[in-house]
Amino acid sequence: MFSLEARRASTQASHASAGVKMARDEPDEDGAVAGATPMMAQYLSLKRQADGCLLFYRMGDFYELFFDDARIAAACLDIALTARGEHDGEKVPMCGVPVHAADAYLARLIRAGNRVAIAEQVESPAEAKKRGGKSLVRRDIVRIVTAGTLTEESLLDARSANWLAAACPAGGEIGLAWADISTGQFCVTSVAEAALEAELARIGAAELVSPEDWDGAPVDAARRARADFDSIRAEAQLKQLFGVATLDGFGRFGRADLAAAGGLIAYLEAVGRGSIPHLAPPQKIEPQDVMAIDPATRESLEIARSSAGARGGSLLDCIDRTVTGGGARLLGTDLSAPLTRRETIEERLDFVAWFERDPLLRERVRDTLKRLPDVERALGRVAAGRGGPRDLAQLRAGLEGAAELKRSLQAMADRPSLLDDTLGRFGAHGTLTDLLSRALVAEPPVDSAAGGFIAQGYDAALDELRSTAGDGRRAIAALEARYRETTGIQALKIRHNNVLGFHIEVPARHADALMKEGSGFTHRQTLAGVVRFNAADLHEQALRVTQAGDHAIAAEAAHFEELCGQVIVEAAAISQTATALARIDVAAALAERAAEGGWTRPLMTDEPLFDVKGGRHPVVEQALKRDRQPFVANDCRLEEASRLWLVTGPNMGGKSTFLRQNALIAILAQAGGFVPADSARIGIVDRLFSRVGASDNLAQGRSTFMVEMVETAAILAQATPRSFVILDEVGRGTSTYDGLAIAWAVLEAIHDMSRSRCLFATHYHELTRLAERLDALSLHHVRAREWKGDLVFLHELADGPADRSYGLAVAKLAGLPPQVVARAREVLKRLEAGRQASGGLAAGLDELPLFAAQVKVEDDDRDALRERIAAIQPDAVTPREALDLIYELKRLAADDCRH
Ligand code: ADP
Ligand code: MG
Repeated sequence: MFSLEARRASTQASHASAGVKMARDEPDEDGAVAGATPMMAQYLSLKRQADGCLLFYRMGDFYELFFDDARIAAACLDIALTARGEHDGEKVPMCGVPVHAADAYLARLIRAGNRVAIAEQVESPAEAKKRGGKSLVRRDIVRIVTAGTLTEESLLDARSANWLAAACPAGGEIGLAWADISTGQFCVTSVAEAALEAELARIGAAELVSPEDWDGAPVDAARRARADFDSIRAEAQLKQLFGVATLDGFGRFGRADLAAAGGLIAYLEAVGRGSIPHLAPPQKIEPQDVMAIDPATRESLEIARSSAGARGGSLLDCIDRTVTGGGARLLGTDLSAPLTRRETIEERLDFVAWFERDPLLRERVRDTLKRLPDVERALGRVAAGRGGPRDLAQLRAGLEGAAELKRSLQAMADRPSLLDDTLGRFGAHGTLTDLLSRALVAEPPVDSAAGGFIAQGYDAALDELRSTAGDGRRAIAALEARYRETTGIQALKIRHNNVLGFHIEVPARHADALMKEGSGFTHRQTLAGVVRFNAADLHEQALRVTQAGDHAIAAEAAHFEELCGQVIVEAAAISQTATALARIDVAAALAERAAEGGWTRPLMTDEPLFDVKGGRHPVVEQALKRDRQPFVANDCRLEEASRLWLVTGPNMGGKSTFLRQNALIAILAQAGGFVPADSARIGIVDRLFSRVGASDNLAQGRSTFMVEMVETAAILAQATPRSFVILDEVGRGTSTYDGLAIAWAVLEAIHDMSRSRCLFATHYHELTRLAERLDALSLHHVRAREWKGDLVFLHELADGPADRSYGLAVAKLAGLPPQVVARAREVLKRLEAGRQASGGLAAGLDELPLFAAQVKVEDDDRDALRERIAAIQPDAVTPREALDLIYELKRLAADDCRH
């Protein structure tokens, strides 16, 4: 990498010249004395309007940051902090980023949790000058960039939704509203305060806002004025936004729902400088329609993110076979919010099954989808006023493809009801796509500024302007030939640049003839080697070209506005179409994954039953497959008579994997997907809990055992007979007796109080005694076998408790030195003896010989053996002596073992 200093020096240099070029007539504030220069005054006024955002202040080819903003940005972006001029007698800290690379820097600032306001120069230096004397170029904040309100393709992940959320207490509940303005999706719900964290974890918002006077607000929320969260105002605003007299058609909204929606819209309005981006009508999510999964469970099961925080390694990543960005985003949402109503789950499963049965149909549909652009995001950009001609073309192609797909699917027999429902949501976009087809060229540019995107034949006046410009260009070409003829200079050329426009250029040695009075040429510029001229007839043609060109660009810009307007009028219908496409993609993708993995359709029931035969952990299985290792499938049957399974067995035996795979199967099934099993009957789970006993992770400052107990307490408070609880080595974070006692009591509570279905893995062998006391508890173990002194894991579940603890065998496997393993065996023997005797568990340990003494003796013996071996001269021993030697060595070795 170039040194930062060197890069900075060069950017500063170009910056200085850029400043001269772009803002030449601005008063120079460098070296100013105390007090605000005009530029600083303008900066400070914009900074006040920026509402706590970092301010990107445009100066020529750079965005500059000053004061604390500069310090924050320089640290975050790892760029040099410099100083510029003085303010109130102090040097002003400054740093800057080049405009052409601003997106990458923006992305980093946003990811680090900053919000950025962008102030552009909204007039040219020439315009500023016209306003009088030494006027400062006018600047305005044109855009505010925040993590939750992005629409830029370059700043977004195409396969993840980007949510902005608002949370606010009202009427004894917490209202939550969340929207993805890159697609227009918009949801609201209300939950009890205790469920807020879980709900936020499900949504996974990039940015959260809440009222400034609310003590219970999540710590990372941006604080906004209380007045923004006014439910009455919000209701009126929503009605107006969606052009309805009542919101009843969208669902039933309570005070908290409306208050949160109001806060969300107010924030969007503030960020959008008064304009609200396109939003679909709010969708009311009823909490009881969604499986409740708290943050700890999400983390432990690695549903949408792995424990490392990445998508890779998660359940979502493992099952995602979608072929569109919209499909990937919807699958993420589905998997984060498994359903609890049997009819809706079955509808999704019917749809997946339909695709699963027909591989050819599936392939055809997926091929079609694969070619469609991301309609939702293109719409988001257009609606936010940040679209370009390319976005319009994407909408055209996407909507045409959607119409085609709809026609072909409608022709299919025995359509599942969810498909019919989905097809019904496709809008009729014929008029719009016709318009876009006529209006746009085949491959329009990303940016509208340079024109060239409106098709020939769409607008006669535009065609006329273009042909005038074309005629002009041809006339100019003809002039070049004529000038060569009249001057006799074959090297004469007509060129064009931004400073001189069209001009005549000849090599310096031919210039004299043209310099002469009456030659018809006027001198413009002399450079090394060439001299440039103008001429009256060239000037005339050039004017024709540029005027017609300017008018054409203006005409195209007007058409662009008009076309965007047409798209926005139809925004709601377009986003419905996009959602419908995503739903088809998700169903086909789940079918694809099922076919690939040999997965099966789960049978859903309302009874509290969980019966999986041949179940697998999809993520572990996939990882093993990469190493060509088989995954051992296992059954799990929880029912009224045995709804609690206690699983014992050696470390590394497969307990955790077994527990998790069953939780994942429940999630997949209720999200509407097939499951990695031979068969599955699943009683719908209302709440899912998964806890892993604390290890030695002290990251959060609380003792991990404390965390473990807090989380376990939450389960006991919330789990119901319809819940599914997974407890993996709970009680590990404390001393043996405490841990065992707690695990024991928790098991009893789940058995007698919550009455949930539960899988409980433990290394406390003693817990198996509970089987005699708790009716619905049954014992299981992961099998392992000792083979030639080594432990072999079978990863297979069997009935009954593990016959013993394999701790020492595992320790040996892990490479603990043999003396230490032997010693541990001895300690264990005495501990077990002590348990029988009355003197207490550890009584026997007092008589244990000192380890140091044992190790010493062994070392002495081993040395005797080693010395003897070293003394052997292999070439000098006879066969007879060799045999004697073997007997001798064996004797020495036997001595060694006796100690
Ligand atoms: P435990 O919780 O009993 O210590 P884990 O569930 O963590 O054991 O499993 C340890 C390792 O064994 C896993 O990382 C995996 O590679 C392997 N494993 C677990 N279950 C299976 C299985 N059913 N089939 C094959 N390998 C498995
Ligand atoms: Mg484990």
